[in-house]
Amino acid sequence: MKQDLPRAPLSRRDALRYMALSPLAASLLSATVSTAQASASTAPGHIVIVGGGAGALMVLARLRSALNTPTITVIAPNEKHIYQPGQIFVAAGEYKPQDIIFDNRGYIGQDVRWIKDEVQTFDPQHNKLTTQSGQEVAYDFLIVATGVQTRYEQVEGLTADMIGKNGISSVYLSDLALGTADGGELTHTWFNDVREASKTSKPRVLCTQPSTPIKCGGVPQKILYLCDDYLRKEKLTAEFTFATAGEKLFSLPQIDEALHKAQERYGNITNKFGHDLVRIDPIAKTATFHHKYEVQGQYDKELKEYDMIDKEEDVTLEYDFIHITPPMSAVDAVANSLLAWQKGTAAGWLEVDRETLQHKRFANVFGIGDTCGIPMAKTGGSARHQAPIVVENLVSVMNGQKPLAKYDGYTVCPLKIAYGEIIMAEFNYDGLAPSFPALNPATPRWLWWEFDLYALQPLYRNAMLNGLM
Ligand SMILES: Cc1cc2nc3c(=O)[nH]c(=O)nc-3n(C[C@H](O)[C@H](O)[C@H](O)COP(=O)(O)OP(=O)(O)OC[C@H]3O[C@@H](n4cnc5c(N)ncnc54)[C@H](O)[C@@H]3O)c2cc1C
Repeated sequence: MKQDLPRAPLSRRDALRYMALSPLAASLLSATVSTAQASASTAPGHIVIVGGGAGALMVLARLRSALNTPTITVIAPNEKHIYQPGQIFVAAGEYKPQDIIFDNRGYIGQDVRWIKDEVQTFDPQHNKLTTQSGQEVAYDFLIVATGVQTRYEQVEGLTADMIGKNGISSVYLSDLALGTADGGELTHTWFNDVREASKTSKPRVLCTQPSTPIKCGGVPQKILYLCDDYLRKEKLTAEFTFATAGEKLFSLPQIDEALHKAQERYGNITNKFGHDLVRIDPIAKTATFHHKYEVQGQYDKELKEYDMIDKEEDVTLEYDFIHITPPMSAVDAVANSLLAWQKGTAAGWLEVDRETLQHKRFANVFGIGDTCGIPMAKTGGSARHQAPIVVENLVSVMNGQKPLAKYDGYTVCPLKIAYGEIIMAEFNYDGLAPSFPALNPATPRWLWWEFDLYALQPLYRNAMLNGLM
């Protein structure tokens, strides 16, 4: 190996749990991910990786094993790395904020040139880019791993600094460049505020989900259920509303049904589908949604069916507490460049092939992680399965061969429907793809909660980011 692997410190209790869960973890997590090439390639070329998050580090570790004498530059501003899935456990009060933030340096070896800056513009026609400080960097091969940006300002009346005040929270609040993640802690305070209010009244709690793609699509519902359960543990209750721009709780019917069942158990959740948050008044405590729906029109005798008429209206709801999942987009440097899809539903996201992850117009460019404009959920689980594909295909292209490895669309969403219960939704382009087919994936399990809470973070830090899994 060309680097000393950074290790996460573990408490004795966590180490014991980790040891108990790790055989399961190893079999689960290695199920579909092949390791990089058996023998290192001597293919030449300067590779630039843009980003310092999950996808970038996973692909970097694998590339350093796959190439004999790699020439790699990483461009990323963040000295600190955030284990973003852990923000949910911070919100739930299970992790402390420091459990999810750690140094990036150990993952970016001394043999790698690290430019601590952000890319401002990409010029793929001339194989170069420019950083914010004006540095021009040329490359032979480029990997884009810039994730998403949250767009709180796209909701009228909302700015990120309003989170944590007036009953507003958002677990997504973080600054990846600075290595801060305040959303988890603020949302835990919000849980406590909702609980306090429930002792004397029945507060109205709104949880929203926007119409844009978001990272880990299950997050808005994880917050909804965990907050409801947080009250239930003390025999308290509130009026919960889940207002989502979507038309379902989950895209896959089995999981959708399981989530409806979970909601029935609570008995205090109202769903408002087709509701996209567009405006907020933090003083009056009202949230306005653009509501799209269909009504039945006239009966068409020829087609033997009713016409459906599209309707739109603005709906304003009052709340006492609101958890906002903001609209998200690709970062400006990608969205405003020739690397992005120029039109269509994926406009602004990185234009890569959904299987090879190679750019569709610039053959020396690949993408990994949330920035990719592919029809699949944006999760760290996706990035983990994409990393070996990107490396194999990039090395093939460096050797003048065709990229043949194919990403099957694998992703995973551990849906926390209560404290101690997770529905582990694993799926790919074809549908459900459970690592353990014998276990019904729609069944909530304590086992997945233990795995997620105790095993995943050390596995992420010690194995996944080091390209070992
Ligand atoms: C609350 C929450 C819960 C989640 N839960 C789960 C879960 O349970 N399971 C799961 O698998 N996933 C989960 N995710 C999603 C997971 O964290 C992301 O999908 C994953 O981090 C994506 O990796 P990435 O490399 O694409 O982006 P990121 O890890 O976000 O990294 C992006 C990197 O790009 C850098 N960057 C941005 N712009 C530029 C630029 N112009 N120039 C240079 N660098 C730039 C950033 O500083 C950062 O280093 C969750 C996310 C959140 C927020």
